[in-house]
Amino acid sequence: MSTLISFDDQHTGKKPQEVLKAYFGYDSFRPMQEEIIELVIDNKDALVIMPTGGGKSICYQIPALVKKGIGIIISPLISLMRDQVEGLKQNGIAAAYINSSQTSHEQQKIERACAYGDIKLLYVSPEKLATDWFLSFLRTLEINLFAIDEAHCISFWGHDFRPEYKQLGLLKNKFPNIPVIALTATADKLTRKDIVEQLNIQTAKQFISSFDRPNLQLMVQPGRDRLGQIVQYLKSHQTESGIIYCLSRKSTESLAQKLRDKGYKAAHYHAKLPPKKRAAVQDAFLRDDLQIVCATIAFGMGIDKSNVRFVLHYNLPKNIESYYQEIGRAGRDGLSSDAILFYTYADVNTHRTIIEDEASDIKNVKITKLLRLQQFAETNTCRRKVLLNYFGEKLDQNCGSCDVCQNPRKTFDGTIIAQKVMSAVARCREKAAMGTIVYVLRGRVNNQIVAQGFNKIKTFGKGKDFKEQEWFDFITQLLNLGYLEIAYDQHNALKLTEHSRKVLFEGEKVKLVQPVDRQAAVPKIRKKTKKEMFEDGLFERLRVLRKQIAIAVELAPYQIFNDKTLRAMTQTLPINEKEFIEISGVGVHKLTEYGQAFIEAIINFVAEEGGKIKGGTKIVTYHYHLQGLKPEIIADRRQVTLSTIYNHFAGLLTRGIEIDVSEIIPAEEYQDIANMIKKHGLDSKLRDLYAALGEQYDYGIIQLVLNWLQLEHDKTVK
Ligand code: ADP
Ligand code: ZN
Repeated sequence: MSTLISFDDQHTGKKPQEVLKAYFGYDSFRPMQEEIIELVIDNKDALVIMPTGGGKSICYQIPALVKKGIGIIISPLISLMRDQVEGLKQNGIAAAYINSSQTSHEQQKIERACAYGDIKLLYVSPEKLATDWFLSFLRTLEINLFAIDEAHCISFWGHDFRPEYKQLGLLKNKFPNIPVIALTATADKLTRKDIVEQLNIQTAKQFISSFDRPNLQLMVQPGRDRLGQIVQYLKSHQTESGIIYCLSRKSTESLAQKLRDKGYKAAHYHAKLPPKKRAAVQDAFLRDDLQIVCATIAFGMGIDKSNVRFVLHYNLPKNIESYYQEIGRAGRDGLSSDAILFYTYADVNTHRTIIEDEASDIKNVKITKLLRLQQFAETNTCRRKVLLNYFGEKLDQNCGSCDVCQNPRKTFDGTIIAQKVMSAVARCREKAAMGTIVYVLRGRVNNQIVAQGFNKIKTFGKGKDFKEQEWFDFITQLLNLGYLEIAYDQHNALKLTEHSRKVLFEGEKVKLVQPVDRQAAVPKIRKKTKKEMFEDGLFERLRVLRKQIAIAVELAPYQIFNDKTLRAMTQTLPINEKEFIEISGVGVHKLTEYGQAFIEAIINFVAEEGGKIKGGTKIVTYHYHLQGLKPEIIADRRQVTLSTIYNHFAGLLTRGIEIDVSEIIPAEEYQDIANMIKKHGLDSKLRDLYAALGEQYDYGIIQLVLNWLQLEHDKTVK
């Protein structure tokens, strides 16, 4: 691999926008990025709150690059540091990290490189940073900024407090003139306040971006036959990576086993696995060797993998913050990704029991948070609205993509249904749990029902008009409407409430929502168009190439190019360097390293497919040309006229592909036409040239020579 360019002289003073394209391959900034970058370049402090995948890193990487000196980034996790540094190196940026995973020899080497000015971005752990020795080392460097990643770790109020972060307040005291930029995806006010206070950056400008992640499709499914539903889902996502979150370690193991039995590459991950095994699972997942990780919440922090296409919740998370954080690991590359939550009442109870058993003085807060998530799961309005609302943001329109928007709920008069349920609850002496009530309504028996004599009550079997699943749904709604309660301390028995009496005895009407058909709720697999099938085929081809390269250079595939960049290639079919660098996500370094291989793969694929895609036929001609075939032979092979082939070449020339025309067409013909063009001028009309040449050449060949001479001319002018 080529050596990293030593930068200082190369990009210092360059415009942020230029650096964005040259090194990161992107054409424009996302909202707020540019303003943050300008501010930090101007030596001011900033607090940046953006959701995962929002693009925080660029906010400090670009200022560090365009300013003289070195940027110091404090990051809590070794795996995260390594990932970031690898990613930067892939973009041709001189970055390094120092942490406890290295030998002192390795550390010294990096320190020396910093001293020589060979490093632009240095990642360091908070505990390393705060040592006296390291601080005095820092004094010898020309530091242009301090970036504090995952800044919420400093706050006791955040969800991931790390004591080592406490010491970071000293930075502003010891280096008062160097800007500090703190970044996190944790939004709440208290944490925010804590961060600026503890870091001594009270005057920092705060940037809080929207928490909406429009590319995530939010779905909640009833948690029955979860395995069946998951397998169904995976059938249409055979090659895509995903995480399935489970509540218990045991269920991660059993689910992964079941998926393996069905032929999927799945593994489990939880905190009790030996560190080696954990690292192996994480690594295999990052490298696309493992498709699915069934994990507890222990998995995810520090996973930068951009092509996670789905996050499924086998169990309900404990609150909306956790849910949001976990689904946030999907779709970091901005491509459409799924977040499916399987919801059961049983999970609500499990969480409740866990919380009740804790010796915590914030039990009530925890219960309330759990209930908010439950409301989200049961909502009959746009889920994205509910989610953003929780984070204090208002979405004016329904998102149109969540399951509720896709299947708008219909309400109907459910009074009789409510009465049947309530009567069953009453006649079971308020001693039966939800499952038993459903059995009773449907007229099913089990030992308990017989023992209690519930099969003798009047309501037994009076609910055969609805399926079991529908009864579960109705009862859940009645619970949420306050018409029933669950006595958690009495084996979850259903109880009547004040409100139920009104329905039973005072004629109050109950409005219910039509249960959604589970099959209908799962998005239908649409038949793909020819164009989509072509693109999918090419995407697979490019994925394989990416994987081969990744193995060769010992990186994760997404660090070569992310899925979004590959997708863009399948849509625009770049066939030369000029077109290749236009692709979002391709910078100069990646163009040099990988451009040729990807261009070749694209050309070959188009040729194999017979060019049956818009713009494809010229590429096929080009493919034959690259194999050294003469135009006549190409015309023969492709069963088209020679003139058509000349036309293709003319088109390729205007795309900036240099094909020496004087070499591919007969010498006399070339001379003849070229002389005439030179005589009449490069801007002459095709028709006039045709006439001047005595109508003995066809338009195709004249156009081709004309284009070639124009191109040659433009080159000499430049
Ligand atoms: P965060 O740290 O906020 O979770 P990252 O900094 O890792 O997010 O960025 C997420 C993804 O978005 C990365 O793949 C990054 O390269 C990409 N990205 C960042 N800024 C832009 C931009 N202006 N245009 C296109 N992609 C961007
Ligand atoms: Zn919606």
